[in-house]
Amino acid sequence: MQYRALPHGGEKISVIGLGMGSIHAGSEEEIERTVDRAIEAGINYFDMAASEGKPYPCYARAFAGRREKLLLQMHFGAVYEGGRYGWTREQSKIEESFREQLRLLGTDYTDMGFVHCIDEEDDCDQVLSGGLWDYMKALKAAGVIRHLGLSSHNPEIVRRFLETGLVDMVMFSINPAYDYSTGTYGIGSAENRSRLYRECEREGVGISVMKPFGGGQLLGERTSPFRRALSKTQCIQYALDRPGVLTVLPGVRGEEDLQAVLAYLDAGAQERDYSAISAFAPPNAEGVCVYCNHCQPCPAGLDVGLINKYYDLARAGDVLAAGHYQKLSLKADACLRCGHCEARCPFHVKQESRMEEIAAYFQGQL
Ligand code: SF4
Ligand code: SF4
Repeated sequence: MQYRALPHGGEKISVIGLGMGSIHAGSEEEIERTVDRAIEAGINYFDMAASEGKPYPCYARAFAGRREKLLLQMHFGAVYEGGRYGWTREQSKIEESFREQLRLLGTDYTDMGFVHCIDEEDDCDQVLSGGLWDYMKALKAAGVIRHLGLSSHNPEIVRRFLETGLVDMVMFSINPAYDYSTGTYGIGSAENRSRLYRECEREGVGISVMKPFGGGQLLGERTSPFRRALSKTQCIQYALDRPGVLTVLPGVRGEEDLQAVLAYLDAGAQERDYSAISAFAPPNAEGVCVYCNHCQPCPAGLDVGLINKYYDLARAGDVLAAGHYQKLSLKADACLRCGHCEARCPFHVKQESRMEEIAAYFQGQL
């Protein structure tokens, strides 16, 4: 397993976490076994929003004796009356549900306390000024919530929470379909969404990724909105390459799904290569580096994707990224202008001139 550090707090988060949205499909034994195997494989980050309440006791049994090593992401607004999932902003129900979830899990705190599924401006106003956010802030002050955050599909809503300066982690839906389509499959243009990822990274706010496979649609040629299938490994790598992303949270139905997701860890560069998305990316994605490194190997040894990512982040005001760039042993000025990457790049990025631009930018920073 690989881990990434939460900027505000330093907790090490496994790059693959677990979503609970589909796990109720299995028996209680299978749920407990799957969570246990996930922990054994090094997964330490769990999203606790479930499609029904059934998995909670199974999670509790699997977590027993190792709670302190695990990071739970719990949602304020997901409730399970009669065991069925429901969405609410009724504060008394939220408080009661949170207490019940803690009880079922045998814990007295959550690592992440998230406003659940907030996409509308009106809802955002209500949460921020109607009492829920204050309640969550009080729990944070009391140590019951370690980090505040939210889950959303809407970049503008995430920005409103970033403005509070109180958010450490955000759950956002990221996959090539949502990033490159407009309207139907994702909220916000490709440019707006990628700007949001950079803003999160700049503010030290981590992103946990929901819907990395677009609800499974991207995995099948017939169901993919682009009529091209991607593998789970490609989708995971795509999400992990976005700035700010710390962990990807696929929903698994049982052990078989878990193993399919964990296969990412053993996959080689070719299996992880998601540059095939260039075939269905819209024209405005032309010439924009997505950090996929399909253009490797660079004869000069440059990490083309990483250099481009640091540049984009630095221009967005991310001081840390600028520092990371300066620590690279091979920087843009080592580019030989050989043209190899330009010939390989499926997005037709003019990388020779871009390397020149990057070198000049960072030279000017010294
Ligand atoms: S230049 Fe092209 S191939 Fe290379 S990392 Fe950027 S998008 Fe990928
Ligand atoms: S043009 Fe520069 S960055 Fe691209 S492959 Fe050649 S040396 Fe590497």
